[in-house]
Amino acid sequence: MSTCIKDFNISEVEKIFSEMQEPLYRSKQLFNWLYERNISSFTEMTNFSKDLREKLNSKYSVSALELADRKISNIDGTEKYLFKTSDDEYIESVLIKSEGDDSGRLTICISSQIGCNMGCEFCETAKIGFRRNLTPGEILDQICHIRRITGLINNNVVFMGMGEPMLNYDNVLKAADIMNYSYGFHLSVRKITISTCGVLPLIERFIDEKRPYNLALSLNDTLSEKRATTMPIEKKYPFSSIIKLLNEKFPVSRNRLTIGYVMRKDNITDDDVKRLKKMFRYGRIKLNLIPLNPGKHSLNIPTADEINHFLKELEIMNIPVSIRKSMGQDISGACGQLSGEKYK
Ligand code: SAH
Repeated sequence: MSTCIKDFNISEVEKIFSEMQEPLYRSKQLFNWLYERNISSFTEMTNFSKDLREKLNSKYSVSALELADRKISNIDGTEKYLFKTSDDEYIESVLIKSEGDDSGRLTICISSQIGCNMGCEFCETAKIGFRRNLTPGEILDQICHIRRITGLINNNVVFMGMGEPMLNYDNVLKAADIMNYSYGFHLSVRKITISTCGVLPLIERFIDEKRPYNLALSLNDTLSEKRATTMPIEKKYPFSSIIKLLNEKFPVSRNRLTIGYVMRKDNITDDDVKRLKKMFRYGRIKLNLIPLNPGKHSLNIPTADEINHFLKELEIMNIPVSIRKSMGQDISGACGQLSGEKYK
């Protein structure tokens, strides 16, 4: 099992080449092959000598993942991918096309861990438990494969697949930096969103290190006691402490913050609206509403009328909201439904 070359950032690749007594510009050439041209083998790197290609090939692999399955939704064209890692584990990723709206957004929703130990009641990945963190190469390769298979270039990445990205902090941030890097995917920092259930010390580290990416906090409730019944993390880091941290420290001008809110029958009352209003009186955040998707949970899905009422009340209170359409329902590719398939 050789190391994937995509595990390395540009300075690490420079070190590899300098040890091989190769000129430094090889590093940028290599990055260009890996991410801009998205090749699948060292053989294709035609401006490298045969000798160098063979040397690289003997030590490293270009791909960290293998495609195991691809499903395309008949409803909205959403595509769900199942990938196999070199140690025979499975992860899922989703390609979401925003055709119909005029945003021109093409999003890849990627996984950061194999399984997850956060134990959220409504989430399918939680049912697997935690298996291991993904490497930077495995995180990036999800995008490489989907781009190569579809011939499409996504302009948006969300860490909202399997896993809790903050608990794989180093690898997630390293991969995000390569996505943003001009010789990597060259994606704007504004088009990369890291979503967390609320691991306070790592959110603080993210802020202190001035990481430029968007942050999404999965809130899902306005009462601590209630949130604790579906999201165990609440007992360790109550959301009030996170909101306090964000209000004090989150740089409004640089970062963008969204609050994820999975709508259930019992968390969209008028009292919830009032509490949301109080919580976000500074008005610098957006509430991202997500309809609860079916799964192995016993929570109740709200009706369209109930959702519309909630929306209207939020509007009256002047709370900026966006509502996420539930994409890829027929392929279990919607929010919270990723389970790696093989672990079912
Ligand atoms: N661990 C991270 C990222 C993965 S979950 C986090 O918690 O943010 C990505 C999003 O899917 C979260 O906002 C989560 O609340 C949502 N989600 C999980 N299960 C869901 C379900 N059954 N229906 C709708 N959204 C769900």
